[in-house]
Amino acid sequence: MLSLALGKSSLHSRLTGRSLLWLACLLVISGGLSLTVLLASLVHDSERNQLRERFSQIATERLSRIQERLGDQLKELDALQRFFLNSQTVSRDEFQGFVEPLLDDTLAYSWVPWVARSERPVFEEEARADGLRRFRFHDLDKDGTAQTSPERDHYLPVFYSVSGLAGRLPLGLDLSSQPERAALLDKARAGRQAVASDALTLIGVPGADARGILMAVPVFNPAATEGHALRGFVLGVISLRREMEQGIPDEVLGSLAMRLIDITKEDDPQALYLSKAEDDDSGLLITRSFAFADRTYRLELRPSEGFAMANRSSAWHLVIATGGLITLLMAAYLMLLISQRQRALRLVAERTRELRERELDLKLSEERWAFALDSAGHGVWDWEIASDTVYYSRAWKGMLGYDVDEVPDEPELCLRLQHPDDAPAVDAALQRHLRGEAPIYQSEHRMQRKGGAWVWVLDRGKVVEWNPDGSPLRMIGTQTDISASKAAELQLALAHGQLRGVLDAATQVSIIATDLDGFVLQFNVGAERMLGYSAAEMVGKRPRMLHLEAEIQARCEALSKRLSRPIRDFHHYVVEVTAGDCYDEHEWTYVRKDGGHLTGNLILTGVRDQHDQLVGYLGVAIDVTDRKRVQEALEDRDRLLQKLSARVPGAIYQYQLYPDGRHRFPYVSAGVSDILEVEPEQVNGDASQAFTRLHPEDLERIYASILHSAAVMQTWREDFRVLLPRQGLRWLRGESEPERMADGSVLWHGYISDVTGHKLVEQELRALSITDALTGVFNRRHFQERLDAEIARALRSEGPFSLVMLDIDHFKLVNDQHGHEAGDRVLKQLCQRIGQRLRRIDVLCRLGGEEFIVLCPETNLEQARSLAEALLQGMRRDEVAGVGHVTASFGCACWRDGETADALLRRVDTAAYSAKQGGRDQVCCAE
Ligand code: GH3
Ligand code: MG
Ligand code: MG
Repeated sequence: MLSLALGKSSLHSRLTGRSLLWLACLLVISGGLSLTVLLASLVHDSERNQLRERFSQIATERLSRIQERLGDQLKELDALQRFFLNSQTVSRDEFQGFVEPLLDDTLAYSWVPWVARSERPVFEEEARADGLRRFRFHDLDKDGTAQTSPERDHYLPVFYSVSGLAGRLPLGLDLSSQPERAALLDKARAGRQAVASDALTLIGVPGADARGILMAVPVFNPAATEGHALRGFVLGVISLRREMEQGIPDEVLGSLAMRLIDITKEDDPQALYLSKAEDDDSGLLITRSFAFADRTYRLELRPSEGFAMANRSSAWHLVIATGGLITLLMAAYLMLLISQRQRALRLVAERTRELRERELDLKLSEERWAFALDSAGHGVWDWEIASDTVYYSRAWKGMLGYDVDEVPDEPELCLRLQHPDDAPAVDAALQRHLRGEAPIYQSEHRMQRKGGAWVWVLDRGKVVEWNPDGSPLRMIGTQTDISASKAAELQLALAHGQLRGVLDAATQVSIIATDLDGFVLQFNVGAERMLGYSAAEMVGKRPRMLHLEAEIQARCEALSKRLSRPIRDFHHYVVEVTAGDCYDEHEWTYVRKDGGHLTGNLILTGVRDQHDQLVGYLGVAIDVTDRKRVQEALEDRDRLLQKLSARVPGAIYQYQLYPDGRHRFPYVSAGVSDILEVEPEQVNGDASQAFTRLHPEDLERIYASILHSAAVMQTWREDFRVLLPRQGLRWLRGESEPERMADGSVLWHGYISDVTGHKLVEQELRALSITDALTGVFNRRHFQERLDAEIARALRSEGPFSLVMLDIDHFKLVNDQHGHEAGDRVLKQLCQRIGQRLRRIDVLCRLGGEEFIVLCPETNLEQARSLAEALLQGMRRDEVAGVGHVTASFGCACWRDGETADALLRRVDTAAYSAKQGGRDQVCCAE
């Protein structure tokens, strides 16, 4: 039933639509055509008016000209008449002279005198005398042949005649023999005025101008009496064709149909001239009547066909054609529009019917897919827009932590749960779809769960039903929890952002990433700075221009030797060196955009995705140009230092002592292997080995001096002994400047040299200065020093000491008896023997000449006396070879507490003197 009703109504509407369509078309066509006709008639009228005006302008001008010309003819004839009136006689030559300038469009002027019968011979004679030998008064017969005139009362001969035409002049023709002309002249005479003839066939005028008009003006003799007053007539001959046509441009002539009519006799008008151009049927006419001599002429001008042709405008045709065409096109367009709309309406009706038919099925299937979606975890919503009711599925609510009945099905619910920051974007997306600008509604936003936590959802929907006016009626959508993927996405975005940040922050490092084919994908700020190219210039290109071709070749060759297969180019090199998990690190020469070179330490690696698939290559380079330069400079300096230190005797060193007691030689030159017999490497990290070489007696002193130098930050300078495995005891001298380091350690810079040679010389010199050259025992100066030292020691209560002084008895005699050399021998031998007898700590000194003293530490007076006694006995016992026995006198003294050296010496000297005094060869002790 429903479909039947629908079918009926659609048939009805189709019929109504079709008749409406035809009606509209008819309306458009009839309206369009009426408008066109109206417009065309307006254009046509305007054209006709223009034509009329133009014709009127031309014709009026023409009329005036013709009338003027004819008037001129009469004026000229009048002038000729006055010429005759003013002259008693006019000769043939005078006539010709007067008339010739007037022969413009007049065919001929003539003088016709009134000749009485008796005067005929005189006239004929005169003419012959003027050179007209065959002149005679004559008539013309029917054939036009001249016959001598018969006798008449008077004659009217053409006596003078001047013409511009080539034809024969009818000189001598008696006009009284021509009835028409005689009548004309008679009328002129009677009226005493100018007269004009009917249209005549002119005598002696050939061709087109043969039809013309004769004008005549009588010339009276004013002095004569009545009857003889008439002298004759001046005649003018004009061609009507000339008068009407001469001097008019052809196009004007062709455009006018002209008619000149003599209407003197109103009941019998005579046509004088008809133009060749025929008039059209436009009905346009301009006429003018005017007097000519004794006659009245009417001139009629009509536009000719030529005029109509020349001035015709086809604008109104165009208007008709264009208007008609536009009307037809509009009608066709309207038909098209209406028929399309009808088709669309029909289709809509059909689709609506189909949809209605499927509606029930759909409802059923909707429930099914809603259930399916719900079960798959997608929430479903269904929004009736008109009634603003909404249905949220179980899964929709579950996604937000609610039970089915816990929250109401109302549109505000989803708005309430939306994150306020996301709401504008969600609404914008929805409105876009509702306005038809987006095929579906889709939005990713946050919704609040029951507990207050936020969950990211993907909300998608589509309008599924529309109102007849096209506005949305119903919309269905799904909502999916995408928190997990959103979190991953945010994480990824964060990581990506960080990576970008790192790339851009690494302004001192060039980072270039390429795809698998070696085309640049990333060119960071560091690379831009280092190489002078912008990222825009480099992205999408291979970075080969950044390197030297020769260097690439060399590296490729080296690699191909190593791998035993050819390496073609830079990209191939990168592919090979990064194969597997390998990476390549080399210094490369980079060519900047400005052509400059720099050295970069380039690390090449492959880039892999999360599935460990190779996706590209990465080159990270640091500009090491400066570092390299500095390194080379340092190496130069090192070489220089090595050379210098090789030439310096001893060793140059740096010694560093830390607060915790560690010490080392950060630098020590190769000379240390001679000086201390250790290698630099053995002491670079720990100086202990070097210190084992120190002499035990000097070790403590050296440590102390180092600590002192560190404490006061003053130059350390020491001589010390070392005991070397190879060279044995050596004297060394060290000198260095301390410098406090930031870590609290002290660093000394200095040198150590071998001063053993100096030391020996020094010792020798020293020995020489304290010993007696002859005997080898200590001299007086040394004794004095030792005595002072011993007194100092004794003052520290370290026990008593004593002096034993001896003087050889009568030594003068020895010299005198055995010679000075023998005396010297005695001195030497004595010292030798005493020395053998003394303790190691006793000090034997030669005070001068043959006087000696022994300093005996830790010895009291008794002990000193027994020593002196022993020495005395020895001298008594042992004789000196060649000299015999030599004796000596001995004095002994023990130091008293607080006693000075001088006091002690005085006492021992006194004791020795006492021994001399006592008889020599004896011992005497001081109190
Ligand atoms: P006396 O018993 O009083 O001491 O008599 P003496 O001859 O030893 O007297 P004295 O001390 O006045 O003389 C010392 C002499 O020793 C004088 C000098 O010629 C001699 N003499 C001093 N020095 C040397 C020396 O180096 N060699 C030698 N051969 N004779 C020396
Ligand atoms: Mg003496
Ligand atoms: Mg003596």
